[in-house]
Amino acid sequence: MPETMKAYVYESANKAVLKDVPLPKTGGRDVLVKVKAVGICHTDLMVLTGVNIVPVPFPFIGGHEWAGEVVSVGSDVTTFKPGDRVVGEGNSGCGSCKICQDGHEDYCAVEPVQRGINTDGAFAEYYSLPARLAHKIPDAMDWITASVIEPFSVAYNGIRAIGGCDPGDTVFVSGGGSIGLCAVAAAKASGARVILSEPQAFRRAAAGTFGADYTLDPAAEDVVKTTKTLTGGFGADIVIEASGSADCMKQALDVARNNGRVSYIGVNVGREILVEIGKIQMRGIRVQGVLGSPSVWGRTVDFLEQSKLDISRLSTHRFPLSEIDKAFDFARNVKNNNFIKVTVVL
Ligand SMILES: [Zn+2]
Ligand SMILES: [Zn+2]
Repeated sequence: MPETMKAYVYESANKAVLKDVPLPKTGGRDVLVKVKAVGICHTDLMVLTGVNIVPVPFPFIGGHEWAGEVVSVGSDVTTFKPGDRVVGEGNSGCGSCKICQDGHEDYCAVEPVQRGINTDGAFAEYYSLPARLAHKIPDAMDWITASVIEPFSVAYNGIRAIGGCDPGDTVFVSGGGSIGLCAVAAAKASGARVILSEPQAFRRAAAGTFGADYTLDPAAEDVVKTTKTLTGGFGADIVIEASGSADCMKQALDVARNNGRVSYIGVNVGREILVEIGKIQMRGIRVQGVLGSPSVWGRTVDFLEQSKLDISRLSTHRFPLSEIDKAFDFARNVKNNNFIKVTVVL
């Protein structure tokens, strides 16, 4: 095993450098992974500017949407061996507080850990994580598909967290980024009718290939009105807000039908948004916030295997680790570059 590795270290706000660092420490309950593919997420771009839900502790290594091969395991690990192909959960908690014990480690109030966000992540040749957070992937699954499991699991969790969907539901997804498209794919694979609202034509077209029954351009039409027309005047049974934009977060309550369900997955930090909150009560809307995807990873892998969904297509552009600066620049330019997800391959 080498002593050092290349890693993309976020040194301070808006400054990241690809450099040699020591290999991560591997404790008795950890597994050390050789990273094969790692996606760049909108959160990664935000975190590098110093903005996130949890404080950003520079310097550290970013990256949370990874897949790789186990190269060594800690002395207490019996569930993995070198050569195992794995993905891993990014968010975890202390494991013992009241909230963790309830199964919601992503909202741990004592020691919330978000790997690649507030502690070292996987924009590196090697990455270490507790074995309990790692999950084996099917032999036939390629590395690119595996690296998209993380965003898919978040979208899937966003639907499950508000009770799931079935062929009786119309699911409205706002935002056609990778999480939004994953929500489209997951809802469609669950049998629901799916409407997607997204301003970029390229992403609307992609949504069609992931099963959206209707795609709407919010810049060109009245989204609430059209959704009501498509649903017999009622509105969507389920709204998945995956854009994080203030207007869409506000609009989500109007797109939902009376007694509808709204899941907020898109991230909006530190901004006050004016909404008529009484609508939630008067119209009996159930609202759920979703941050990560603890406790659904095993299920997510099974869902992908059984549904035969091809999520590798979400990764539209690939760069080697040596060109990670270029990859970040490309991913920052959402307006000019037609992409869904940029993946760093190793
Ligand atoms: Zn992400
Ligand atoms: Zn806890």
